Amino acid sequence: MLNRFTINQLLFVSHLMLVVILIAGMSYSRYQSEWTTRVNHEAALIERAILPMMREVSSAVAGRNYAALTMPSQKESLTNIEALLFLDIQGTSDYKDNKVCVRYFRERGEIWRTDVSSEELSIARQRRKDLAINLQRHNLNDVTKRKLTFLLKKADDDLAALELGVARTSEFSAPWPLKPQSGKYELLPEYGIVTLQLPLFNKNGGNIYAVFDASNLFSLKHEIYLTIAIEAVIALMVSLLLIVGVTHWLVAPLRTLAEQMDKDIEQLNIAALDEINRSDEIGTLARGLHRLTRKTQSQLKLLKHLSDTDALTGLSGRHNYENRAEALFNTTRNQGASFGVIVCDIDFFKLYNDTFGHGKGDEVIKKIADVLLSATRNNDLCFRIGGEEFVVLLKVYEAESLIRIAERMRSEVEEMGIHHVSEHGAVTLSVGAVMVSPRATSLSYQDVFDFADKQLYVAKRAGRNRVIFKEIDKQQTPGKEHCDKQAIKTLD
Ligand code: GH3
Ligand code: MG
Ligand code: MG
Repeated sequence: MLNRFTINQLLFVSHLMLVVILIAGMSYSRYQSEWTTRVNHEAALIERAILPMMREVSSAVAGRNYAALTMPSQKESLTNIEALLFLDIQGTSDYKDNKVCVRYFRERGEIWRTDVSSEELSIARQRRKDLAINLQRHNLNDVTKRKLTFLLKKADDDLAALELGVARTSEFSAPWPLKPQSGKYELLPEYGIVTLQLPLFNKNGGNIYAVFDASNLFSLKHEIYLTIAIEAVIALMVSLLLIVGVTHWLVAPLRTLAEQMDKDIEQLNIAALDEINRSDEIGTLARGLHRLTRKTQSQLKLLKHLSDTDALTGLSGRHNYENRAEALFNTTRNQGASFGVIVCDIDFFKLYNDTFGHGKGDEVIKKIADVLLSATRNNDLCFRIGGEEFVVLLKVYEAESLIRIAERMRSEVEEMGIHHVSEHGAVTLSVGAVMVSPRATSLSYQDVFDFADKQLYVAKRAGRNRVIFKEIDKQQTPGKEHCDKQAIKTLD
């Protein structure tokens, strides 16, 4: 499945995944530590706000001293604690094991008892009533009257406090759940509060449960999110740049080298690439590739030379002939010149070999190749295409010059006077020559060659050691007898 991706894509995606995982992990742990620090700080602040009143409250609970718990100065000090929304004090007095329950609610600005019994309330009402009756008596002196007035005022206050407690207890409903908590403090993000629970110091125990406004803390949470998200995005961008850079640094040279591999090996020039100067593995690869290319190129050159050249004569061989003949034919025709094909074959060569041996035969082939070379011009191409058969391809403008060259070949071979047991007494050459005008556009090279070969056959049939020449001037089928001109040179 991975094969479907390029190295570039694989490197990019794997690095990206790694970076995203790392950044996500780091961001999460950074968020955790930042948030924990903030929460601890907030908890320390609220605990420090409540702690100073703990001893006082504990001893008031121990003595069931409601006056101390609900007096105005107590309310004022609670109101002064910033962010304190609610306070619930519940304990048991140390002497008679009585419940002591008091609440503070910032929104109402009140402290009230939540444990007022109906008996307590009726005792207070009765007491107030008795005091009021006593104060109505006529025989009271001034001191008694002042004392009773003071007591009546106090009974009024006590009764009002008890009635307030009854009223608030029945009507109070907290905007948050007043749930018992397991730890010292608890965060309730959905209500924007943090609650704190501390044990009282009195003998029979109890606790203070406080609710603080923590909206600042939760808005801070969003700031932490935002800061960490910005940091993560910056880290991701920087990582992306690094990934793209490194990927490019690694993959681009590999791609360059791979592209070179697509080229024809003979055209390759690894030395011209910058990659060859790198000191890393890619540099080693490029230098190795360079050495390999150079070695292959020189071996190819040698191989080409060997396959192109006939080992015996040094002339171009059959392979080279097949590669070049048609191209030369087309080029010559495109240049508007006539194309000449001369096909030569040594006469009675089998007989020569049989008579003088194969070694001597080879020497003859070599000598004849030299004659062909000396009889042709620099731009003419001589090939040994078979055992004792040769082809010369030439660009010509007049038939005479082609005939002259072909005739020179034939005569020079004869004039070497290499002794032979054939009827001519010497080694001779038969030649078929054809000249094609550029106007004969319908002919292929193979047509022309076959036509020249046919002339060679005619020369052989006519007695050998001769040149048969034909010219094809315009569109026509070669081989038919209506050639424009026929030059037959016989040496009989
Ligand atoms: P013709 O005049 O009709 O061409 O008769 P020929 O004997 O030359 O023709 P044939 O095709 O019968 O024989 C060609 C001979 O050329 C056969 C072979 O012994 C000889 N020959 C082919 N290649 C070589 C070579 O590389 N060296 C030598 N010494 N002889 C070769
Ligand atoms: Mg032959
Ligand atoms: Mg022959």
